[in-house]
Amino acid sequence: MPEVTLDTITNLAKKRGFVFQASEIYGGLRSSYDYGPLGVELLRNVKEAWWRTMVQERSDIVGLDSAVLQARQVWQASGHEEVFTDPLVECRNCNSRHRLDKLEDPNTCPTCGQQGTLTDPRNFNLMFRTHMGPVDSDENLVYLRPETAQGIFINFENVRRTLRLKLPFGIAQIGKSFRNEITPGQFVFRTREFEQMEMEYFCRPEEAPTWFQYWREERMKWYLELGMTEGNLRVRPHEADELSHYSSGTVDVEYSFPWGWDELEGIANRSSFDLEQHAAASGEDLTYFDQDSNERFFPHVIEPAAGATRTTFAFLIDAYTEEEVNDETRVVLKLHPRLAPYKVAVLPLSKKTELIEPAEKIAAELRRHWMIEVDTTQSIGRRYRRQDEIGTPYAVTVDFDTLQDEAVTVRDRDTMSQDRIPMTGLVDYLRGKLA
Ligand code: ATP
Repeated sequence: MPEVTLDTITNLAKKRGFVFQASEIYGGLRSSYDYGPLGVELLRNVKEAWWRTMVQERSDIVGLDSAVLQARQVWQASGHEEVFTDPLVECRNCNSRHRLDKLEDPNTCPTCGQQGTLTDPRNFNLMFRTHMGPVDSDENLVYLRPETAQGIFINFENVRRTLRLKLPFGIAQIGKSFRNEITPGQFVFRTREFEQMEMEYFCRPEEAPTWFQYWREERMKWYLELGMTEGNLRVRPHEADELSHYSSGTVDVEYSFPWGWDELEGIANRSSFDLEQHAAASGEDLTYFDQDSNERFFPHVIEPAAGATRTTFAFLIDAYTEEEVNDETRVVLKLHPRLAPYKVAVLPLSKKTELIEPAEKIAAELRRHWMIEVDTTQSIGRRYRRQDEIGTPYAVTVDFDTLQDEAVTVRDRDTMSQDRIPMTGLVDYLRGKLA
């Protein structure tokens, strides 16, 4: 198969209703995207798969949904107001702006190619600012959160106390974050508004290295279980000069994107930095008392922080395949059934009422279990191709024989094999396949 290009995926995403340019009818707002009917399902399924693995199937992790807007002190204590910056350089020749740490050659402007035209870097704070209430004054300044993690740290004691949790335990959160990125791009890879899936795992300080290793392995397993190609994934430890201000060790889970290896998720050892900072700034006691050992201490924290939108994009790229079938190119999104936007398509062979009626009946039954689609337009071959292209694992065809034998044909997206299944056993058959 030819290499998947960014254009191929972007075009498919737009053509099939995964992702649209935000404000498109007004010419588009750069780096903002709207998730269409297919995209919203895929994104929801990625988040759901994460929540299931990280919260539902575990006895030691609970969920949280904290506010986007928090007191300004949160971002002062966390260090974001002072150091959540990227080094910004501007080209004196073409006025383009760049992130110095992402430039291949720090002496050459990547836009106009001129050498020696870039300014000295200045630290640009990535937090979006707004004002709470009707007055635009400094006292009312609030930030849109640049990460979901701080909402977890400031609720550490609320969650621990109300659920009577004992170490080690984790708090997980999925939600929107905002960063005024200097150079957004590569479609939905880097945007200024995006979704994160973050979990803070609190443990005894001496156990942090073990949990760090544990989470690195667990997170890799998650991507692989959802069908991501092993050869397209790797773990890369951060160099000392890359470490965030809070981190004493970080590895990135990276994916081989069309432009090269790039970050999907960061797994950081945040030590007790955040709890200590918030305890000092707020005056609240955020230590933990261990009844068994009679000790009081600040727990250490291991944080797997993934991007929901970025990961969804990676799953889309990874699933894209092209195959030659009868001298035609068949595009198939080989998405894991758990991620596929629609699990089943119901396709009546003709638009005649005698077939539409049973098809609608089957669809009504299947809808109670899964997201499905009924498609009655165009030839059956074209309809199969369209379902392949949006990753629907199974297509149920209702034909004229159905009226006699009360059975339907179920076609498998990947093998294209077809099974004749009695209508009464269809839900069980599909349940077995989709499990
Ligand atoms: P980068 O180095 O790519 O700017 P980061 O290391 O600052 O990212 P983290 O702060 O570790 O990112 O955020 C955790 C995850 O959130 C990232 O691995 C990524 O998946 C996601 N993420 C961060 N920034 C963006 C963005 N601008 N657009 C989409 N996803 C993002």
